[in-house]
Amino acid sequence: MSERRQAVLGILGGGQLARMLAIAAAPLGVKALVVDSATDACAGQVAPLVVADWTDYAALEAFAAQVDVVTFDFENVPAETAHWLAEHVAVFPAPHALAIAQDRLAEKNLFRECGLQTPDFMTVATRGDLDRALATVGAPAILKTRRLGYDGKGQFRLKSAAEADAAWEALGAQASKHGLILEAFVPFECELSVIAVRSRDGDFRTWPLTRNWHTDGVLSMSLAPAPDIDELQQRATTLARTLAERLGYVGVFALELFVKDGELLGNEMAPRVHNSGHWTIEGAHTSQFENHVRAVLGLPLGDTAARGMSTMFNWIGDLPDAAPVLCAVDAHWHDYGKQERAGRKVGHATLCAPDAQQLSARLTELATALGRETQAEPVVLAIS
Ligand code: AMP
Repeated sequence: MSERRQAVLGILGGGQLARMLAIAAAPLGVKALVVDSATDACAGQVAPLVVADWTDYAALEAFAAQVDVVTFDFENVPAETAHWLAEHVAVFPAPHALAIAQDRLAEKNLFRECGLQTPDFMTVATRGDLDRALATVGAPAILKTRRLGYDGKGQFRLKSAAEADAAWEALGAQASKHGLILEAFVPFECELSVIAVRSRDGDFRTWPLTRNWHTDGVLSMSLAPAPDIDELQQRATTLARTLAERLGYVGVFALELFVKDGELLGNEMAPRVHNSGHWTIEGAHTSQFENHVRAVLGLPLGDTAARGMSTMFNWIGDLPDAAPVLCAVDAHWHDYGKQERAGRKVGHATLCAPDAQQLSARLTELATALGRETQAEPVVLAIS
């Protein structure tokens, strides 16, 4: 019998997403190899880690020679690195899709071309542009860097035009480097995300829509399937499919949406597995992580249907006591093995139940045991 060779998935970025991808890859018989510039990158606890930065082409060449396909845990890998790697090994999603999702302007233009409206916005290159944009877009508004912003980073919220100087002070230096946009603040009814996956041969699937709550621009809780959204599921799925096909996208992505007056507005697209899809690990037949591994390796996709209802809490800054989660029925604890630091995502927990009523009861009980009643309140309200 000839020696069996296991497939190797190369992952750029060694954070919790890479860690969960590597864990999902294992039952498929797929090994992971991770690249990160930090020696303590948390994916390194579950997969071999190459410590190198994005311009260390000697290390990248050796990495490319060891893997069957390369994917991302981090979308801000420089475009040149992604293009360079694509000349040596299969890279999914393709570098051109990554480049669009790295730039808020290109992304918003693509959304509009695909029939998805966005909040009003204007590009800002100078302090004078900011005044002109405020006069056109109005206030409240958010000044955002076009590139390298995530989790509310690289953003300044302006309640009124009087805060223009403060906004420029905070972000003006980025204007020439990364570009800025001023975006109208949307008083949305709720935030939703579509987690979608497209295979190498064009099979496209979505998980049920997820409803999300953010605190200071960072995801705090998710609930899936999002209740009371009726025909929005179909519309959001069609938009996600249009985007995926336009980009020739392969792998999992998240489309983040605002619901305003019953209409969908596109906020952003993450070209990777996403925090609002973590519930799929225990709450769906196939998780976003497993389907991403399957998609990029050219394997058939798995069923994306939900098992009942799920809610996910993010642990930001520090971890609470694990015991209440470990003891609760159908609750699942995830510790990313990271050092605790203010604002850092260090873990999450997912709570599942067969239906909304039981989820509400279990959530109330668990939130009380954790002392997180305030965090859980909007989710409890949304389910009941
Ligand atoms: P982002 O990094 O652009 O996804 O922003 C993070 C979070 O900030 C979003 O999920 C929203 O909760 C909030 N946010 C961003 N842009 C807007 C906007 N134009 N109007 C209202 N809230 C926003």
